[in-house]
Formats: sequence, structure tokens, C-alpha cells
Amino acid sequence: MKLWEDKIRQVVPYVPGEQPQIKNIVKLNTNECPYPPSPMVEKAIREYNTAELRKYPSFVCRELKAALRKTYPVTDDMLFLGNGSDEVLALCFMTFFNSDKPVLFPDITYSFYDVWCDLYNIKYKRVPVNEKFEITPEDYFGENGGIVIANPNAPTSICMPLESIERILQNNRNVIVIVDEAYIDFGGESAVSLLDKYDNLVVVQTFSKSRALAGIRVGYAMAGKELVDALEAVKNSFNSYTLNSLSQTAAAAAANDVEYWEDCRKKIMATRSRMIKELSELGFETLPSSANFIFTTNKNVKAAELFEFLRSKGVIVRYFNKPRISEYLRITVGTDGEVDRLVEEVKNFVG
Ligand SMILES: *Cc1c(COP(=O)(O)O)cnc(C)c1O
Repeated sequence: MKLWEDKIRQVVPYVPGEQPQIKNIVKLNTNECPYPPSPMVEKAIREYNTAELRKYPSFVCRELKAALRKTYPVTDDMLFLGNGSDEVLALCFMTFFNSDKPVLFPDITYSFYDVWCDLYNIKYKRVPVNEKFEITPEDYFGENGGIVIANPNAPTSICMPLESIERILQNNRNVIVIVDEAYIDFGGESAVSLLDKYDNLVVVQTFSKSRALAGIRVGYAMAGKELVDALEAVKNSFNSYTLNSLSQTAAAAAANDVEYWEDCRKKIMATRSRMIKELSELGFETLPSSANFIFTTNKNVKAAELFEFLRSKGVIVRYFNKPRISEYLRITVGTDGEVDRLVEEVKNFVG
């Protein structure tokens, strides 16, 4: 053993879905948008003045914040921007979860939450979802050091009604409640409307899913000014210029094109309904989805075997070999053509 080995911080990292560089695959494993970003993004990048790259980016992000204000009822001092919502969430954990009591989140949820807790030495407790994979608000009413809930939840795709989120807030006035809304644009109702009433609420969203910009790495939190100031202070103790100027430009262009965004969401929701219906004709039971992915199971099919079969045919979906969900597949809603290929190959497997 080397003498420095025990001085190195040991962490078990989050493992993202694979990004295979193979042509002609149908990639339905990481919940990216199947459509390109708004044409306005291409225009903004083409017209971008490269000479600007000589300077550090603006950390005020005025244009991007103005673009977001088109859609959300917030002021600039209620917006916190970061490199993807993963970075925003990590900074939220570091800033807001600082208690002797455990932070609460569902047992089946985004598997980054426990990774951040371990990284920052935050105590946590996993709260089981019910047998229908639903979150029970009452389970979050006891003493805790903070709460984080993905709504819609991942990988279950189930969305909690806003009333349930509000009940959790009403019963947790002394801790910070983070609602991770990565998938809110596919049928859910955002908790943004509760920001006026609850100064302990943080709503986190991303450009990676409904705005088709996973590659540009932009996410944001919306919260009261006090919480945003606290986030800024932690971020500025780490890296002041987090968001590069090209990403700010591209994200602002996407947020300004509200019509294209609405269109994309509607197309994905329509394809989702068809996908669930066609799979149900093949014996699949799918949880009610408010996301751009589905979580589905079939009593007569081993999920792991179907996963491998699809993979061998160039259709990549996500399989989690974990308690309670090892007979389910998480499948991103693709284009209509991609969903046709998926259904075709599933048919071949089911026979
Ligand atoms: C995709 C996802 C995110 C973050 O994605 P970014 O690309 O980092 O913005 C956050 N939470 C959940 C539940 C997600 O699925």
C-alpha cells in the first residue's frame, strides 16, 4: 500500500447512461430530446462574435435570465444558473443540507442524490415509495434535515400533483425542500407558482430535456432571493465563472423560442401515448408517465434479457439491476420512427 492512499477521498460515483459512438443506433437510454434544438439556437451560435471568447463570461447572465422570465414568474435575483442542473443540484446539496438530521428522498429516485450526500457527508434516509411506486406526502412530515424530490420522479415517470408538493412544504417550514423538475415540461405542473408562499422552496430545472440542449450544459434553480444569495456565495467560493458565454447565448436563444419548445413537448407527449398503447398490446404494463420516458414491465418477459436483445439490435434502453425495479425498463420517448423500430424489435423478442 502506498503511504498516501488512505489520504485520498474515496467516492462511488454516479454512473450515467452510455453514449455509444455507433451509427444507426436508436438511442433511448438517457432521456435526451429526439429533436434538434430550436433553429434560433443555430442562428445565435452562427452569429456569435468569437472575439468575445477572449473575455471571461458574464456571471450576471442578463440575457439568459431575461429569456427565462418570458416563461417563469420570477425576478433576476430569484434565478441561479449552472452547468446543467446536476451542478445546480450539487451546489444546492452543499449549500442547504447542513443538519444533524437526515435529508429525505424516495428509495426509488435519481441515483445522484445519495452520491452527493456521500460526497458532502450529508446524512440521508431513503423513504420507500408505495407499491404503485407513488410518493406518499405524509412520509415526509417527520423531523428531517431537508427534502429532495424529483417531480416527475425518475425512473418511475410518475408526477405528484402540486397539492401534494404543497402539503410537504406546509409540514416542513424549517428545512429546505428541493423539487427537481428535470421532466416537468411533459405533463406536470411546476412548483414555481408556490415560490411566493414558501421561502424554503427551491425549484430546479434544466435545458437538457425539453429544450434539447443536453450538450450545452445549462440548468437553473428558482428560489427566493435569500436562497439564491446563499447559492451564489457557495458557488463563488468554488468557481465564479461557471457558465461559459457560448452556452449562455445558446440557452437564451432556446428559452426565447417558446413556440418551438411548446411544439416539441406536444410531439413527445403524443408519441408517448402511442408508444404506451402499442407496448400494452404486447403485454407491457407501463406506469402513468408525465416524463419524456416510460417505465415499463411485462410479466412474461425478463427485463434484463429484453434489454440485452434490444442492445444487440442497436436499440439502447436503460436497465437498472436494483431492488424493486429489476423487472422494469426505462425507455426514452424518441421520434415516431425510433419508436416504430423499438416496437418492431420488442415484437420480435416477445414472438
Ligand atoms: C437529467 C436529469 C437531471 C440533470 O440533467 P442536467 O443535464 O445535468 O441538467 C437532473 N435530475 C434528473 C432527475 C434528471 O433526470
